[in-house]
Amino acid sequence: MTKAEEKETAQNLLNEIKRLSAGLERPWRFMEVCGTHTVSIFRAGLRQMLPGQVELVSGPGCPVCVTPDDYMDRAIAYAEREDVILATFGDMLKVPGSSSSLGEAKAAGADIRIVYSPLDSIQVARENPDKKVVFLAVGFETTAPTAAATVLEAERQGIGNLYMLSAQKLVPPALRMLMSDPEVRVDGFLLPGHVAVVTGTEVFRFVAEEYHMPGVVAGFEPLQILYALLLLCRQAAAGEARIENAYGSVVRSEGNPHSREVLGKVYETADAEWRGIGKIPVSGLRMKEEYARSDIERAVPLDLESKPKKTACRCGEVLRGIVTPRECPLFGKACVPTHAVGPCMVSVEGVCAAWYKYGQGVFRFGG
Ligand code: SF4
Repeated sequence: MTKAEEKETAQNLLNEIKRLSAGLERPWRFMEVCGTHTVSIFRAGLRQMLPGQVELVSGPGCPVCVTPDDYMDRAIAYAEREDVILATFGDMLKVPGSSSSLGEAKAAGADIRIVYSPLDSIQVARENPDKKVVFLAVGFETTAPTAAATVLEAERQGIGNLYMLSAQKLVPPALRMLMSDPEVRVDGFLLPGHVAVVTGTEVFRFVAEEYHMPGVVAGFEPLQILYALLLLCRQAAAGEARIENAYGSVVRSEGNPHSREVLGKVYETADAEWRGIGKIPVSGLRMKEEYARSDIERAVPLDLESKPKKTACRCGEVLRGIVTPRECPLFGKACVPTHAVGPCMVSVEGVCAAWYKYGQGVFRFGG
């Protein structure tokens, strides 16, 4: 598509959205659930392009943002042990625990290695047979199968010193929590394309059937997002609620059964704590009993009591779309990406970081 065609297509989509939303008594509010969508929307300046009658709010789809203090405290406690090497994605280093961060622990001498895939931690374990290598398994359905595959691969290679500290989470139970929360007001969900690649679209059916809420699985290019928003507007205008797939080139209704099979070999569902939100039933993954030996918390239990730090951070409300980052008194003052008070400012996919970096948008169709 040429730049001119892209611009014309975007304008046509926006015109149709404007026509459908004209004259509403109150604006439609659509929530993008995924942190990658949040960043794409901000980079493209889509919020500014949409008519005033269509609002976008961000949801809890940034895995780093919803990882609770006490998980970070346990990660730090393991990292500080002489016999442990911690392997993690880089953005976890700045996530605050209740009194410090992994970055501070690393600066103080803890052996923390940055990896780009859970599978990289197998190599670290092989090269350090006298150490326990602990991978921080944080993420959603998108990355959890790779963590499970890593456990299976380590077992196949006879590597016995690789462990997981698991905090993976599942998106559908979070949607259920949002729709049951009287403070949360949304008229439809822009559903996460990456997650749906694994789960398929059927797992979201309850959103429409039980809560009469429209949902559209969306890709990540600005035009794909605008198209998905148009589909949401059409459903809202017609008073309908169903799950549509606007990312059909990548997402199949049945998802990726192989990834789910690998995941199901190693993990089972469990209640999980979401930072700022609290416990959500069956929204997490826990290693099955057969793999307890690879679960660091069962192999080497900690005696640790976390005391969450009290701050004015409003991440919990930001992640439920109740307030915007600008309504947090710390935004852009005490809390900036280089000195984050809360996790929503740490991750590149964090809502507060996106507002801070791309507040006005930097991209224009055809530009
Ligand atoms: S701006 Fe910082 S302190 Fe405020 S909600 Fe966001 S992450 Fe928390």
